[in-house]
Parts: sequence; C-alpha cells; structure tokens
Amino acid sequence: MQKITIAIDGYSSTGKSTVAKQLADYLGYVYVDSGAMYRAVTLYAMQNGIISKNNFDIDKLKESLSSIHLKFKKESNWNKAHIFLNGKDVENEIRNLEVSEFVSPIATIHEVRVKLVAQQQQMGLEKGVVMDGRDIGTVVFPNAELKIFMNASAQERAQRRYKELLERGDAISFEDILKNIQERDHIDTTREDSPLRKAKDAIEIDNSEMNLEDQFHVVLQLAKDRIAGRI
Ligand code: C5P
Repeated sequence: MQKITIAIDGYSSTGKSTVAKQLADYLGYVYVDSGAMYRAVTLYAMQNGIISKNNFDIDKLKESLSSIHLKFKKESNWNKAHIFLNGKDVENEIRNLEVSEFVSPIATIHEVRVKLVAQQQQMGLEKGVVMDGRDIGTVVFPNAELKIFMNASAQERAQRRYKELLERGDAISFEDILKNIQERDHIDTTREDSPLRKAKDAIEIDNSEMNLEDQFHVVLQLAKDRIAGRI
C-alpha cells in the first residue's frame, strides 16, 4: 500500500506524541518525536554552561552545534525509540520541568532549527513517517499528505501533564506546570522563525473532551481515508 507522510502539530501537551505513536504503530510507520530533539539540544546547553536562569550564551550555542549529535534508537523491549545525545540515552532526562523551562528559548534560535529540520527531513525521505512537533506541516514537510493540528484548553493540558509527571515521581506543582505551558505557547507562537501555526491544509482537532481512544479513532480514520484517496 502507498505510504504517506503524516504531520501532527499543536500546542504543548495536547497529546500529539501519544496519538502519533499509536498511529505509527498501527500503520507500521516510523514515529519521530521532533520535540525530543529540541529538548536534547537544551539538555546539552544546560550541561555546558550555555543556558541557566540568568544566562543564555547564544554565540556559544551556535558554536557548539557541530558537537551535538542526536540519534533515535529502539531496542525490542522499549515501546518507543529513545533519543541519544552524543551516544548517551537521555530519553528520561529531557522530560523534566527544568528542560521544559529552557527548551522554547533554545528553539527560537535559527541555527538550531536549521540543523534539526535538516535531520528531520532526512528521516522522512522514504515516507511512512508520523512526525509530531510545532512546524512539521508548515516547514519540515510542507507537502505532507495528511496534516493534523491538535488543540485543547490550557487547563486540560496542564492537568494531563501534571498527572504524567506525578506518575514519574517528579515533585512539581500544578501551577508551575500551567505557567510553563502558557509560557511555551507564548514563545512558540510568537517566535520569528517558524512560529507554531496551523498549516492552511491541516485538519484541526480539539481533544479537550476526548479520551485517548476517541482521539485515536478520529485520527486513524483520517489517515485511512487519506491513504485510500477518499479525502
Ligand atoms: O513537543 P514538546 O513539548 O516536547 O516540545 C518541546 C519544545 O520544543 C516546544 O515547546 C517548542 O519550543 C520546541 N519545538 C519546536 N519545534 C518542533 C518541536 C518542538 O520548536 N518541531
């Protein structure tokens, strides 16, 4: 059957990665979490004195980019591919709130985006890919056959993220999460380079009132219709 490219964009914590992963598994496609790449660059910047509460050394970040090597790898007993930063598995570390606080400023830097977008496009060359992020339908794969734009209320998104971090055992408050989500939304939508936008040909889904199963069925139906040429 003909393989297509599926781009899933949207605001932070809208459940993009969950549905993207489910869809890729169902279709036998590759799932790529582009946010993990921005998070891994952020972790490198935190570990190398490039970004902290009072400092953001943009020149040093640009100079360091050639020393940052990102790779996704999957072992058979993992349910998804993990991201490796210079050979080290950082999948778990990049999900903490500190990385979440610095990632959006890092993602505003043009040179960072150029590097990551090139790697993402390379991963999509053979189609059969589901990629989620902020600029996948607008910049990375403007010709993707199916583009989905996910949304949900900030309260609902913060609630879901809070539950996720609590389950991981992180000590965090709901207010801090909500604040982080609102700040990231603001930076992601107002940055100069590739701001978060719904692509003209994207289908918008508000999942505030949907459970994971409903959401998966809606997206799967769209993918099946697109693959069969019905839409
Ligand atoms: O998807 P996730 O929430 O993990 O992404 C973390 C951050 O990385 C986003 O808030 C955004 O600033 C940045 N990002 C981006 N472009 C992408 C994916 C993520 O700018 N394609």
